[in-house]
Amino acid sequence: MTPAPVTNVVIVGGGTAGWMAAAALAHVMGKLPGFSVTLVESEAIGTVGVGEATIPQIIGYNRMLGIDEMEFMRETRATYKLGIEFVDWLRPGHSYVHPFGSYGLDMLGIDFQHFWIRGSAIGDETPVDAYSIAAMAGKAGKFDWPRPNTKSPMAKLAYAFQFDAARYARFLRARAEADGVTRVEGRVVEVEQNGESGVVTGIKLDSGQTIEGELFIDCSGFRSLLLGQALEVPFKDWSDWLPCDSAVAVPCTLGGKHEPLTRSTARPAGWQWRIPLQHRLGNGHVFSSQHMSREDATDLLLANLDGQPLADPNQLSFTAGHRARAWEKNVVALGLAAGFLEPLESTSIHLVQSGIARLLSLFPDTSFGATEIARFNEETDREYADIRDFLVLHYNASERDDSEFWRYCRNLELPEGLREKLEMFRSSGRIFRENNELFTEASWLAVMSGQGVHPERYHPVAGLLDEAETLERLRHIREVIAHTVEQLPTQDAFLQQRGGA
Ligand code: FAD
Repeated sequence: MTPAPVTNVVIVGGGTAGWMAAAALAHVMGKLPGFSVTLVESEAIGTVGVGEATIPQIIGYNRMLGIDEMEFMRETRATYKLGIEFVDWLRPGHSYVHPFGSYGLDMLGIDFQHFWIRGSAIGDETPVDAYSIAAMAGKAGKFDWPRPNTKSPMAKLAYAFQFDAARYARFLRARAEADGVTRVEGRVVEVEQNGESGVVTGIKLDSGQTIEGELFIDCSGFRSLLLGQALEVPFKDWSDWLPCDSAVAVPCTLGGKHEPLTRSTARPAGWQWRIPLQHRLGNGHVFSSQHMSREDATDLLLANLDGQPLADPNQLSFTAGHRARAWEKNVVALGLAAGFLEPLESTSIHLVQSGIARLLSLFPDTSFGATEIARFNEETDREYADIRDFLVLHYNASERDDSEFWRYCRNLELPEGLREKLEMFRSSGRIFRENNELFTEASWLAVMSGQGVHPERYHPVAGLLDEAETLERLRHIREVIAHTVEQLPTQDAFLQQRGGA
């Protein structure tokens, strides 16, 4: 007999993860006969209250829901993001951009970076930022939509958003409720499980109400109420590789520049973020509590704001890592309930989104097939490990030697995949990307070169152009990009003109 489809889905938690899941499930599956989604959240508990910077993949999520970009920009007070500016990461006084999109032009059938490496070997030491339209437009405070299928460098522009996370959750909630999601206010006080199988059968609220379901999505944040607490799925602790375990966050008035870039400034025991939104700046200091006290971290943040604080500092603690299985029995965890890798590359909301996409494609029936669950967990594990390696790169490949924290990071024993990537780039300028991993070759180039990793050689084909022609081609690419940036509107003008502000 064919197992019955799952039609009764219960989501625990109404932060960004909960409402992203609710909106997507209702939109994609809501028309199936009898399909229902119930979301339980507790206003008294509240949400984590941070999570404002994203990566370009979010455009795919918004489009899937049919969201109008300008309505979204207005409602969430969003700005555009063309990448992340890393200040003082290599050494104090140095900065570089990890831009979205790619660099320069591939030539003679090989990757652009080999020509850039050759250029520096023959005397042109222009940083790689100059070959990225996103980096240059970002630094100039400019923005426009990409122009696909043109010869302009704008053809390759990729962008994301910086938004008010609470507003984004509300925006999604309205859409989810319009698509039939039922929201229940209340605190979950007990998770009911089948005595033999351990399968979750229902959640009991402080009101005494029990909500039963077939599939439970745990979006309860760091508490991980269902996956971590009820099903006791262990946590893989990666804090040896990523020692930051604390953060303090505070919004402030909008001062300083309003570039379409998230800024990350290295600090003695971590780093500080600055995220420009339309109406304020989001700021936070991520640090290792073994290397700095909360008081000092808070003082350092407050002393380095570009405006006046708008709220009391929000103190947060976390451990880098993830649950060993994001899907166990009939519970799938998304967001912080599944794991957390610090926000250095703005990947958490993306992990929610990719978890939702994976769940939709492997959506179970009531037999909860082991093959689907295993695939979900395998892909999720790989995604976390790939991101971890990319994050560790930022800390490890630094010349900073000015604090205990940086000395620890520089002497870390690297995960094997990262060690191989670094060795290959150092020796031959080659970058390899495994399993369609999230960060592209261009991202690896941005951070490896930005963090001072210098290749010893380049692809022999890059040596086929003579020196003069190599230098001329590099100069031409830079000029075309600089000229294009000059013509772009500022991000403020763009938003006003298009009705997004
Ligand atoms: P939460 O926001 O914590 O939501 C949990 C929900 O569960 C809440 O609704 C809560 O009320 C509910 N809940 C919990 N317990 C119960 C209970 N017993 N009964 C009923 N309801 C309950 N991500 C990015 O992509 N970009 C960033 O720039 C970024 N910056 C970050 C900075 C920091 C310092 C941190 C810690 C995280 C950051 N993140 C970022 C991650 C991002 O904030 C989260 O991934 C995202 O907000 C999703 O959170 P969540 O919905 O999983 O959890």
